[in-house]
Amino acid sequence: MNKKSLFYAIALAIVAFYLAMTAFYRWGDGTPPQITLVEPFTQAGPTTPLVLHVEDAGTGLQEVTVNLVQNLESYTLAQEQFVAQSPLSIGGNADNSYDLTLIPFDDDTIPKRRGLVTLVITARDYSWRGFFEGNWARIEQDVAVKFTPPRLEVLSAPLPVSQGGAGAVVYRVSDDAQRYGVRIGETFFPGYPNSERAFSAFSLFAFPHDLSASTPVLLVADDGLGNHAEQRIDVTVLPRKWRSRTIMISDRFIDGTIRPLIAQTPEIEDLDDPVQNFLQVNNVLRQRTADRLTAMASDSRPEFLWNGAFIQLSNSQVEAAFADHREYRYDGNVVDTQYHLGFDLAVTKRYPVEAANDGIVVLAEFFGIYGNTIVIDHGYGLQSLYAHLSSFAAEKGDVVRKGQIIGRSGMTGLAAGDHLHFSLLLHGVQINPMEWWDGQWVQSHVNGPLHRASPRTNDTATPKRDPQNRQDISSPSP
Ligand SMILES: [Zn+2]
Repeated sequence: MNKKSLFYAIALAIVAFYLAMTAFYRWGDGTPPQITLVEPFTQAGPTTPLVLHVEDAGTGLQEVTVNLVQNLESYTLAQEQFVAQSPLSIGGNADNSYDLTLIPFDDDTIPKRRGLVTLVITARDYSWRGFFEGNWARIEQDVAVKFTPPRLEVLSAPLPVSQGGAGAVVYRVSDDAQRYGVRIGETFFPGYPNSERAFSAFSLFAFPHDLSASTPVLLVADDGLGNHAEQRIDVTVLPRKWRSRTIMISDRFIDGTIRPLIAQTPEIEDLDDPVQNFLQVNNVLRQRTADRLTAMASDSRPEFLWNGAFIQLSNSQVEAAFADHREYRYDGNVVDTQYHLGFDLAVTKRYPVEAANDGIVVLAEFFGIYGNTIVIDHGYGLQSLYAHLSSFAAEKGDVVRKGQIIGRSGMTGLAAGDHLHFSLLLHGVQINPMEWWDGQWVQSHVNGPLHRASPRTNDTATPKRDPQNRQDISSPSP
């Protein structure tokens, strides 16, 4: 054998070996790709996402297709071809995994017909099995699709509601609703099943003091699939005029109240400037405190813990009322404006503070601008707040009764003198306590509507309970 033939023989042997290895490897791969629906679903609507992961451990992915099939018609949601490195490469394809997230019914070319659709996902790899087609994987999943919103029907329209005031609405909502309630502007007031009447729901809502009286009050429901129902509630909103007050900020107040408060509060810092320091407290800390109150409201118990009218601190003088508009002046200049959301009630120093109604203490601690504070949860998003206390007589988790002493008045936090700051909140929105101190208002605007919606007949199996006469706090725990 001469040198040339030897060279060809070796070259041929290498090519043959390479082909043999490729064939061995490609035919050797008998494992199809693995298709996984990362977030499996059996129900879908306009916004339901499809999250897909496909993986092939052997020769790599060649093709993935995602189809929807309904009434024998097929619609392609995705089709992906993966290019091999070379037809004869031993490894097939380097792409061995594929991820896809899409919202199937976002695609306008797919008809939105209710009923069952079948999601068909196929994938194949670069194996030479199946006459060079590759190993196929296929999953089929039946999905019930829905494009209709939940149904809503108002059963008892609320009485006229004041700006800064509250109201109740009773309605029917279909079973497919996952979240429902009243929305006013940006604020959502959740709904709850109404134990006073089967198959009905209710929401307590507040008309925020700073929204225009023309802002619509909406009843809304979502089914969690992207179908949304919304209808305007026919309710008269009574505009209110708030008082205006000017408050002079002195250096004595900055040094004696503001700076110590900053020192007690890690989330704000002393900026070494009287006006900046005042704003840190009156603005930044005020907002953070309000945000915390909103967050706390979501843990409110879904039951009526309260009973009848709320009580105003006994023997108290009103020093500031709900939504007084305050202009703060320092050195003659207006440096801030805020609404005073609550009542300032004064009696004598360290006066015993009474719980305004039955409930459960959900906060008893130093709390931002409010100083030593107690918050009582009365259920269904209604909470009362007692601020600037000099001492506590209740702790978190305590079940308290109307009139029970929970602490003593003081001037902790942002306060210039000994008084009780009392706030009522509904789902974190400050509301006018005047309404809730008035037994007739409570009866006509809250208890009445819930009860009045009860049918006069056909409902004798479940005894109706008058919310006014609720005696029990059903053994709550912290
Ligand atoms: Zn106050």
